[in-house]
This record gives sequence, C-alpha cells and structure tokens, in this order.
Amino acid sequence: MSQAPQSRRRATDRTLALAFDVGGTSVRGAVVGVDDVVMAESRVATRTGPAVLDDIAQLAERLLAGLGPADRVEVAGVGVAFPGLVDTESGTSLKAVNLGLVDTPVAAPLAERLGLPVAVSHDTAAAAGAIWADAGSPASALVAVLGTGVAAVTYVEGRPIVGSSGQAGELGHLVVDPTGPLCSCGLRGCVEARAGARGMLETYAALGGDTAVTGVAQLVARAGQDRLAAQVWSEAITALADGFLAVGALLAPGEILLGGGVADAGSDLLDPLQARMRERAGVTAVPPVRLSALGGRAGLVGAARLALASIGPRSEEGSG
Ligand SMILES: [Zn+2]
Repeated sequence: MSQAPQSRRRATDRTLALAFDVGGTSVRGAVVGVDDVVMAESRVATRTGPAVLDDIAQLAERLLAGLGPADRVEVAGVGVAFPGLVDTESGTSLKAVNLGLVDTPVAAPLAERLGLPVAVSHDTAAAAGAIWADAGSPASALVAVLGTGVAAVTYVEGRPIVGSSGQAGELGHLVVDPTGPLCSCGLRGCVEARAGARGMLETYAALGGDTAVTGVAQLVARAGQDRLAAQVWSEAITALADGFLAVGALLAPGEILLGGGVADAGSDLLDPLQARMRERAGVTAVPPVRLSALGGRAGLVGAARLALASIGPRSEEGSG
C-alpha cells in the first residue's frame, strides 16, 4: 500500500500526516494530525499530465516549510486520494482520464522526493471511507461524495460493494435524463452532468447566468433571487434524488450519508433533497439522509487516515 524509503515509525498522539486530495478542479493539501485535526491547508489548480505529481510535491514542500521544527519532525507519512483507477498496492495511477495519466507511478516518485512513505488510494474510496467511519460505520449505507463529480460507495453488512471490476459506485454516470446535458463520459443526462459541481456551473453559464458565479456555494446563495441559479440547483437536486432512489430500489440502504464540497450547502441541499425523494419514491422506501460533518474535507481526512494507518498501530490493517 505504500512505498517506504526509510524505516516506518509508530504513530503517537503528536504524529502528523501530509494529506492530498487530487480533484478535478484543485489539488488540496493539508497537514493533519491524529483525530483528523487539520493544522494547515493549501491548494493549487489541477494541472493534467505528470505535472500534477510535481504540484503535489511542491504543495508538500510548501506545507512542510510552514511548520515549526518541532512539528516538522512529527510528519511521518503522506496519503494521496487520487482519481480514476488506482493500484493501491504499488501506488500507481492505472488510468485517470481527466488527468491524462496511464500507468503512472504516484507513490514512488513522491516518496523519493519527500523522503516519506506515501500511500495512495482512490479518491472516492478515501472520502467515502472517512465519511462512513465518521458516521459510526453503519452496517447498511449509501455514502455519496458530491464534488466536481458525483460518486458513491454502498456498504452492505458493514462492507463496501466494490464490484467484480472494482469499479462499482459510479453513481455519477447513472443516466437520469436521456435528454439532459452532455456528460464528460459521452452520455447525456448522467447524475453528474446535472449534480456535479462542474456540470452545474457549465449549465448555469450556458443558460446565460452571471459570469461572476464560479462556485456552487455562490450558485446556491443566489438561488433565492436568481431564476437560473434556482433552476440549476433544483435540477441538480432532482438528479440526485432520482439517482439515490435508483440505488435504493436495488439495494435498499439503511441510510444515505452525504459528503464532498457540494454537501457544504447544508440544509439548502438536505431539505429539498429529502422532499424530492419522497415526492418521486413510488414504492421505494426513502431512507434517512444525513450530512457528514466532514463535508468538503472528507477526501483530505480520508487521505490522512490512509497515511496514518499505513505507519502506525491505530488501524487493524497497519503494516507495522
Ligand atoms: Zn456520465
């Protein structure tokens, strides 16, 4: 799970990890302690190709430089939440379409440059795992990560469904409106095209929305006065409701947990979403929907836990 250029250490209460969440819009980095305390955070715009690895390394060096000497020596590992298909054993990006990477080592070059062990996980798995654990590890739950894109992990009997190919959970590419906007996958009307941050902002711009709106938080804040913003947000909520109901019809999760940056909309998301699901449920049972307290930090916290678990005794899976 990690590349270790030096002997691994045991985690203590003062141990720190560098965590990175490589998203479609930005690469976020943070210094995170045990118990998920974020000590420092920074981000850069996501570049495609191998340049993204250089960006992660530079972000790491900037974060380390910002720490005092006493904290710097406590940094024991690096966790990276990476998009696309990831081989977690070797820390390799097998395929990341949006980043233009194929069979690209991620852990090894970062470990060499930073002199720290590096663990790499799939971004949705890292974020969903953190949200799920934070919610008390419920036996049956659908965990949705709402960000630039939309993805989900469904837990049944306390275990994530990964599927025969390891690619289960592409909630974002479930088609809910075949006449809807074009999705990055080539289909029309996927959940992500309607409810992903990128899809919402593109639709809003295409409808002639205010060019000052560059983020979902702004879009949601304007929905009370801005007819186009209200329309885009409402369509996003309908797409999420239909997507969750489709999963619900097949798997009947006991609850739905929402994290990711779009979930930072809070009750502006939760209240209309629950109402929309009840309106459109038919015979499908509507499970309780909860917002994760981790919100947009879920990927970072997941990456930090990955790093800490790979160096210390706090996880059952710790490699010691
Ligand atoms: Zn799609």
